[in-house]
Amino acid sequence: MYTVAQLIGGVWGAGGAGGELVVHDPADGRPVSTVPVATADEVGKAVEAARGVAPGWAATDPAQRAAALHRAADAVQGAAQELAAAVTAEMGKPLADARGGVEAGVGTLRQYAELAPVRGGRTLLGGVGSIDFMTPQPRGVVAAITPWNDPVAVSCGLLGAALVTGNAVLYKPSERAPATGWLLARALDEVLPPGVLSLLTGGGEVGAALAGGDVDVVAHVGSTATGRAIAAAAARTGAKVLLENGGSDPLVVDAGVDPVWAAEQAALGAFANAGQICVAVERIYVHRDVAEDFVDALVRRAEALRVGPGREPGTELGPLVDRRHRDHVHGQVTAAVAGGARLRAGGVLPDGPGAFYPATVVVDCRHEMTLVREETFGPVAPVVVVDSFSEALRCAADSPYGLAATVLTGSMSHAQRAWRELPVGTVKVNAVFGGAPGGAAQPRRGSGQGFGYGPELLDEFTATKAVHIEAPGGGHW
Ligand code: NAD
Repeated sequence: MYTVAQLIGGVWGAGGAGGELVVHDPADGRPVSTVPVATADEVGKAVEAARGVAPGWAATDPAQRAAALHRAADAVQGAAQELAAAVTAEMGKPLADARGGVEAGVGTLRQYAELAPVRGGRTLLGGVGSIDFMTPQPRGVVAAITPWNDPVAVSCGLLGAALVTGNAVLYKPSERAPATGWLLARALDEVLPPGVLSLLTGGGEVGAALAGGDVDVVAHVGSTATGRAIAAAAARTGAKVLLENGGSDPLVVDAGVDPVWAAEQAALGAFANAGQICVAVERIYVHRDVAEDFVDALVRRAEALRVGPGREPGTELGPLVDRRHRDHVHGQVTAAVAGGARLRAGGVLPDGPGAFYPATVVVDCRHEMTLVREETFGPVAPVVVVDSFSEALRCAADSPYGLAATVLTGSMSHAQRAWRELPVGTVKVNAVFGGAPGGAAQPRRGSGQGFGYGPELLDEFTATKAVHIEAPGGGHW
């Protein structure tokens, strides 16, 4: 059992007068973590303390901040087993995937440690006696509010980039993975100056207090509804907002592709992490020519997945994060079936403990169904059959979200059309996941705003200052 403590103004165990939350293992319902809940007053005090330390950290040499981030990466690497076990216990992810998430987080910390000190600004010569230069400066105090679905990788990105660029950071991990956030904050705090990082725990109300507080940036990775509430709160304070939110990513399967390979891609995209990935495949538009063979292969793959608790080696499909979320997923599936769709695999609530949900393939779906248009965030593959690549692209583009999209095609001209026409941050051709390390994209529409990843995130956490210098008296230097 993890007993989580907050970190406020460099003091572990501070605050928590807002009560206590208990997190349960989604595989069997046993209690895993007890978590203090911050009050609005404690959030205010933490922001004030962060304001106090921010100037000192901002004035620290970039190379020293980078060295601290390298030490942070070592510390997270040293805690990797413990962190992965906490992820699996709190949100159910298979242990091997949880380890992968920690490794990704360590990689991101190292990448930011290398990139941050070599950043600079442009220089312009206005005349023989005048020069302009642009220099990035820390923004001040950053609130980093994170989700549970890949808690270490996502948090390392925001925390690493915000810290290495010289900001003081208030970290609010998800209430569904708070011990993971606490272990991460402990590892980072060991190697950072006291007070540069604070940890506040609790639910949405703690996030809301932070988002409405006296901070300079609110960086949120999470649902679209929360992102919008944060944007509204920050509009009143003037804080900069960075939002990496939900999606309903399409997969387009073109005529002429190998249907078995396409089904493997679809299964990976829809069922990995039980579908709880922001860029999971949420809806499939398959060309009529390959639809039957594709669906048969997808059903075989869904039924072959090894289901079990994430801590058991070899598990491919763990539970969903909790029963409340399972009700949401199952609600969308049953509504689609009531609307005329058919189950080809899964779709039935299992008996027994925990929040397990089977890999589910739903056919005869229509583009207007909520299961197709909205984010499901579960191991569900809704299939819509289309008659042309143009129809598939039109449906794929017609969404309130704009995170990512995948197209499986052997046609170069179709691949070109996909990346030109789809109004999303990332277009993937012939692979549902992947991409070079350090990749970044700007989500569109309901999926958010700003760069949440990659070198560009360093720019988001700094403000560029322009400096114009002339020789005294308008002469030459
Ligand atoms: P969530 O928005 O409910 O919670 C995320 C964080 O926001 C938590 O720490 C929560 O306490 C906090 N929060 C909740 N209400 C708040 C409020 N009113 N003000 C301020 N903070 C508040 O999201 P979740 O359920 O934890 O995560 C799943 C969602 O995250 C999915 O929609 C998924 O697509 C998205 N996600 C997006 C990305 C991306 O990069 N685009 C990555 C991972 C997850």
